[in-house]
Order: sequence, then structure tokens, then C-alpha cells
Amino acid sequence: MPPLLPPLFSDIRVRWSGSRAILPEMTENDYPMNELVREERRPIDPDDRYRVPDGLRDAEHRAKEILAAIPDAKMERTRDVFQFESRCDAEDGLVLLVTAEAVEIRLPTTEWVCGAYGPAPSSRLWRRVPWEKVAARKRGLAGLIEAGRRARRKQFFTCPFCKGRWPSELGAAGACHGCATEHLDVVF
Ligand SMILES: [Zn+2]
Repeated sequence: MPPLLPPLFSDIRVRWSGSRAILPEMTENDYPMNELVREERRPIDPDDRYRVPDGLRDAEHRAKEILAAIPDAKMERTRDVFQFESRCDAEDGLVLLVTAEAVEIRLPTTEWVCGAYGPAPSSRLWRRVPWEKVAARKRGLAGLIEAGRRARRKQFFTCPFCKGRWPSELGAAGACHGCATEHLDVVF
């Protein structure tokens, strides 16, 4: 139930945003932002697109935990979902999806969107862990991220022909795609 309006407003049509009354001539964006809140929100809402004048949503608090753990992660967001990419061109790259309820750890991969052609960077689910289970882990979020990085590192192998390091999605018959075609007659 929204709180009762003061008498002055009782005959004005208002809509409610949480417990905040939005008067007809105002939008939520007309409310002044508390400067401290603005500063707190800046890392997770740099363009002020999802503004809340009074604080942070649950998912936004969680997103700040991720940024604290992986400061160089590349962040993109909608209102309720954050995606972070970290070192996806390295052997320990990760993609993380963050909501209020859980963090989803994803491992980078390449999809072939046109049979054996059309490589498209993508990711696959590794673990989805509710936040309360993250907290119950011995090393918390840092430990979970490290476990995800370990899982990604395990997907890499050394090609016996070119000696290059390749992720499993770019390998076939124990070699990299190029060497499998050249030396092992693998046809893609
Ligand atoms: Zn090779």
C-alpha cells in the first residue's frame, strides 16, 4: 500500500514509483539525485540510464561486487541483468551474468553460424550459483571466479603440429582446425 498523500495532494492524480509519488507534471528523472548516491551508482550506471535517486538495486549491488573482484571487466547492462567479460582472448577468460538472485559463470567459445563458416564469439553456461551459495563458499566470489578461470584453462591444448595453444572449440582430432585439415585430412 502506498502511503497516504498529504491533504494538499489529495485531489491531484499521482502515480506511484515504489513509495515515491510522481506528480502529473513530473517524471522520475525530475527528482534530484543525491550526490553521494550518484557517485555510488557511477561505476554500474555510468550513463545514468537506470537512475534511482535513492540508492542501488540488488542486482546493482551485486554488479559492484563483480567490479571489485574483476576491476578490468567489460560491463554491459540492462535494468535487471549485467554482463561482464573478462580476458576473453586469453586462456582464462570468463563471461559473467549477474542478476539479483544469482551469478552465472560462462566460458567463452566460438559458434559457427554457417556450418563450418561464420565464426561468432559466444559463451556457454558453466555454473549458475545463487548468491547465498556464493557467500557460503570458502573463498566466496573470488574462489568461484578462480574456479571458472581454471575450467576455461583446462579447455586449452597444445596442437602437436604447430605447437600453438588452442581452445577445445577450435580443435579436432587432437589438433587445431588448420593442422587437422592439413595433416589429418579432417574436412570441416
Ligand atoms: Zn595446429
